[in-house]
Amino acid sequence: MYDVVVVGGGPSGAVAAQELAQAGRKVAMLDRAGRIKPCGGAIPPRLIADFNIPESQIVAKVNVARMISPTQRAVDIHIEGGYVGMVDREHFDEFLRVRAVKAGAARLTGTYLRIERDREGTHVVYRDKVSGEEIRLATKLVIGADGARSNVAKTEVPGGDKIPYVIAYHEIIAAPPATADYDPARCDVIYDGKISPDFYGWVFPHGKTVSVGMGTGVDGVDLKKATADLRASSGLTGCETIRREGAPIPLRPMDRWDNGRDVVLAGDAAGVVAPSSGEGIYYAMVGGQVAAKAALACLASGRVADLKLARKLFIKEHGTVFKVLRSMQDAYYKSDMRRERFVSLCHDLDVQKLTFEAYMNKKLVAARPMAHIKIGLKNVAHLLGLVKPSYV
Ligand SMILES: Cc1cc2nc3c(=O)[nH]c(=O)nc-3n(C[C@H](O)[C@H](O)[C@H](O)COP(=O)(O)OP(=O)(O)OC[C@H]3O[C@@H](n4cnc5c(N)ncnc54)[C@H](O)[C@@H]3O)c2cc1C
Repeated sequence: MYDVVVVGGGPSGAVAAQELAQAGRKVAMLDRAGRIKPCGGAIPPRLIADFNIPESQIVAKVNVARMISPTQRAVDIHIEGGYVGMVDREHFDEFLRVRAVKAGAARLTGTYLRIERDREGTHVVYRDKVSGEEIRLATKLVIGADGARSNVAKTEVPGGDKIPYVIAYHEIIAAPPATADYDPARCDVIYDGKISPDFYGWVFPHGKTVSVGMGTGVDGVDLKKATADLRASSGLTGCETIRREGAPIPLRPMDRWDNGRDVVLAGDAAGVVAPSSGEGIYYAMVGGQVAAKAALACLASGRVADLKLARKLFIKEHGTVFKVLRSMQDAYYKSDMRRERFVSLCHDLDVQKLTFEAYMNKKLVAARPMAHIKIGLKNVAHLLGLVKPSYV
C-alpha cells in the first residue's frame, strides 16, 4: 500500500514525489517515458535557487531579452545581476526524477490507465512498459501530474476536461555562429500578428541548439509556416532542423484541483501556466510542492478537505501575479497596434525593472510607488489610444 502514487514524472510530479519521500512517505512516481517534453526550457533564477538546480543543467545563460514589435522595432531589456537559465528538458526532467528516487521514491515506467475504487480502497491501474501487463497499485492518495492533457484531471476532477489552452510549436535547430542577428546570450520575444495572432514567437538559445517557436489558441493558424517565417526573419532558415514538436499550454488554473476524496492535481494538469508568458516549469514545480504539502496534511489528519490546501497555498503566493499577467495578455495581445504599444512600453526603464523583477524573483515589487503610478498612467494612455508608440 502506497501513501501516494504520483502520476507523471515531469517537473511537477518529480518534485511532488521527492518532497513526499523526504517526508518519509511511501510514494511511487509513474511516468510513461520515451518522449522529450516540447519546451523552450527558459527558467528564472528563483527556480534555480529554490530547487537547487546545479550549473551542469544550465545549457545557456541569457542576459538580454529582446522584445520585437510588429514593425520590427527592437527593445533590449538587459538583465542586471542575474540571468535567465536555459535547460534541455531531456536532461532536466531526468535529473529531477533521479533526485526523487534518491530521496526514496519508487520509480515505475508505464502508462496510467485509470483509477479503480472498491472496498479495499483506491487503486491506480497502469500498463507496465516492459511486461505490457496491467498492474494495480493500492494507494491512499493520487497526485495527478500528467501534464496538459491530463487523464487524471479529465476523469477525476470537475472541470478537468475543459481546460482552455494554446498550442505551442517549436523547432530545435543547430545553433548558428554568433552574428549581429544571433546572440547565444540573448532571447528574442516576437510580438507580431503574422507570427502569432494572440500569443508570441520566440528564439531561445540553448548552447549548441536553439528553440524557435510560437503559440496560438486560434484555429486554422499554420504553426509550421509561422515558425518558418520566424526562422526567416531571424536569419535562421539555413540551420539544420533537429526536432519539430508541439504541445498544448494550458491558459487558466482550474477552479478545483482535488476531487474531495483521494486525488489532487499539480502543474499543467491543474491548468497552471502563467498568462502572457506561458511560463510553466517554475509553477509546475511549485505545484508539485503544494500538492505534496496538501497530501501530507491529508495523510496526517485523515481529512480530505486538506487536499484543498494545494490550490489555496498556490493562489495565495502567485494569484496576484497571475491576475496582472492575465490583464496584460487580455489588453495587449489583441492586435498589432496594441502589440506595438506594448513593446514601446517596454522601453521604459521602470517597466523593465518591474517586469523582470516579477519574472526573475516572482514578486511584484512595491518599493517604488511613483514608478507604479507612472506605469499605470502610461498603460491607460496606451489602451485609450491617447499616446503614440514611442521608442525614445
Ligand atoms: C512548446 C512549448 C514551449 C514551452 N516553453 C516554456 C519555457 O520556455 N519555460 C517554461 O517555464 N515553460 C514553458 N512551457 C510550459 C512547460 O513546458 C510546462 O508548463 C511544464 O512542462 C509543466 O510541467 P508538468 O510536470 O506539469 O507537466 P509535463 O512536463 O507535461 O509532465 C507530465 C509528465 O506526465 C507524463 N505522463 C503524461 N501522461 C501520462 C500517462 N498516461 N501515464 C504515465 N505518464 C504520463 C509525461 O510523460 C510527462 O513526463 C512550454 C510549453 C510548450 C508546449
